[in-house]
Amino acid sequence: MTTGETRGGPGSAAVTFQDVSKHYGEVKAVNNLTLEIPQGRSIAFLGPNGAGKSTSIDMLLGLRKPTHGTVRVYGKAPRDAILAGHVGAMLQSGGLLSDVTVRELIGLMTKLHPRPLNVEDVLKRANVEEFADRKANKLSGGQTQRVRFAIAIAGDSDLIVLDEPTTGMDVENRQIFWHAMKSEAERGKTILFATHYLEEADQIADQVIVINKGRLLANGTAAQIKAQAGFQRIAFKLPGVTRDQLLMLPNVVSLEVIRDRVQIQTSDSDKTFYALLDAGLRPEEIEISALGLEQAFVAITQQDNGHDEAAFDKTAFDKAAYDNTGEAAR
Ligand code: ADP
Ligand code: MG
Repeated sequence: MTTGETRGGPGSAAVTFQDVSKHYGEVKAVNNLTLEIPQGRSIAFLGPNGAGKSTSIDMLLGLRKPTHGTVRVYGKAPRDAILAGHVGAMLQSGGLLSDVTVRELIGLMTKLHPRPLNVEDVLKRANVEEFADRKANKLSGGQTQRVRFAIAIAGDSDLIVLDEPTTGMDVENRQIFWHAMKSEAERGKTILFATHYLEEADQIADQVIVINKGRLLANGTAAQIKAQAGFQRIAFKLPGVTRDQLLMLPNVVSLEVIRDRVQIQTSDSDKTFYALLDAGLRPEEIEISALGLEQAFVAITQQDNGHDEAAFDKTAFDKAAYDNTGEAAR
């Protein structure tokens, strides 16, 4: 396994966004994004549809120009980094050439790169050998995505950028694909992939960058993001309890009562639970759990959606920006 520190020296970033915005008229597709993507890790770019993932990715590939701010890839302007062969990409849309086989297509694509892999290695690493002799435009949706991944790795680039790579994949294709992607990560490649699937980010990424409405909401490991959402859930059964009794408890963030079943979201499960007991209540079938990444993501984006531009939660943003620059800047 390599360290992945093949460009720019130890600790330097693969990608930096500094105060990057992209506006389309009134639409702020990307809004003042500052972040750093370290080398040699797998990073999920997580956000709902319309969050600005593709716009950000296209800017880092030099396909769209920021309205403001600077994007750097291995310290270079995106186009220069691409010309130097540092980046392989799989865009969200775009078909494959027709009338060529998969093997021929990969052969063509390797010629675009200064230091490509050989064709048979690409086919093997992307695990597309079984349909290498089929026409590229006669594949299933999932197979097409796997060939597009093969194209992304063909140049043996340090950075592999994948925009919603598993769209249209069934479970089997998805597993084969993730296996191939993990192997590239183990070779020390930096992998940045956009997704709106929480499980993918949770299971596969070393680092998760959450964006919503073009803004950075969180940046850290899945565990850190769950902690940033900062809530736990307490569930129990308590016949006859009223909403008012429960709303008196400390640290309650939200409450759901359905007949004798209660679910509380709390910012401090110990405090809430002890107060419940101190109030003389005796719940049964008690469950206390942390939020999953999915619930954390929903909580973080809902908090954000609840704020207008002016009232944007500065704490979450500052924390994310700090987490983001804390290590590499020193
Ligand atoms: P995501 O990839 O996270 O789904 P996008 O980056 O595609 O999000 O889009 C972010 C926002 O920018 C959306 O509101 C989208 O409608 C808008 N947008 C994207 N591309 C354009 C464009 N070429 N012209 C106008 N608006 C656009
Ligand atoms: Mg997109």
